[in-house]
Amino acid sequence: MASMHAMVLDAPRSPLVMRERPLPVPAPGEILVKVAACGVCRTDLHVVDGELEHPKLPIVPGHEIVGRVAATGAGVSGFALGERVGLPWLGATCGICPYCRSGAENLCDTPVFTGYTRDGGYATHAVADARFCFPLRDGGDDAEIAPWLCAGLIGWRSYRMAGEGKTLGLYGFGAAAHILAQVAIWQGRRVFAFTRKGDSGAQDFARALGAVWAGGSEQAPPEPLDAAIIFAPVGALVPAALKAVRKGGRVVCGGIHMSDIPSFPYSLLWEERHVMSVANLTRTDAHEFLQLAPKAGVHCEVTRYPLARANDALADLRAGRLQGAAVLIP
Ligand SMILES: [Zn+2]
Ligand SMILES: [Zn+2]
Repeated sequence: MASMHAMVLDAPRSPLVMRERPLPVPAPGEILVKVAACGVCRTDLHVVDGELEHPKLPIVPGHEIVGRVAATGAGVSGFALGERVGLPWLGATCGICPYCRSGAENLCDTPVFTGYTRDGGYATHAVADARFCFPLRDGGDDAEIAPWLCAGLIGWRSYRMAGEGKTLGLYGFGAAAHILAQVAIWQGRRVFAFTRKGDSGAQDFARALGAVWAGGSEQAPPEPLDAAIIFAPVGALVPAALKAVRKGGRVVCGGIHMSDIPSFPYSLLWEERHVMSVANLTRTDAHEFLQLAPKAGVHCEVTRYPLARANDALADLRAGRLQGAAVLIP
């Protein structure tokens, strides 16, 4: 019987364990994908560390999957065997709730999330609902485009929510910020990068990608910003970013989990500043970003780990030892 391997989380706050499993057969509407690369997202850390409640357990994490179609279930059309596809965080939606009906499927009442409520890509193979998979014809190397599938897609949604302003602050210069900085600069915007205090490596990295300024998140930017996106899971950055944006400026929280936001004076919000969060993605976000990223020449800085070293990749992300994104190679 054919088999696959996966790194499995049995319970939060325990290491992933390599397991052999029977190779799944795709149900009607599903495809089986042979994984070529799977990015490691901060959300995976939140699942493993127990900061996101009620994962399916045991769970195979991973929702930045690049692979090739190995089998298709009944009724699947539009995917050829061997074709390269991407599988994102949004695994399925109900299609009938008020959110799905109004073009906000990212807020679906009964969603399925890859690597959280259905098994993901820390594996040699993954099964997915074909309607939520995307062809990946352009963009180059499998590992280097894996971070597009979440850091890119949800980063893009956050970026759109930040509006059309010409000066953009990015708090937390990890996988998502390094992608969005390239998009913003390609579009003629000026990027201000905020990192952990004293993280000169990340600041140099941001400047090398074209940021006009890089500094610690405790610092004020040299000029007021039109908008800021917070990718770091640190609630204290919300008042810090509000201080950095101009009147009417926007602060977008792009992560799924954040520490508590400290209280702050109303004067920081006054003058029509906005604070908002971005949740998940829609398929429209994905189509937009996957068309734009190759045109913008988005290049991801990646560190490759063999699948069996998934725990090391997570530890490096947790400790802030990564530049760009970690990617698992089965
Ligand atoms: Zn729905
Ligand atoms: Zn993610």
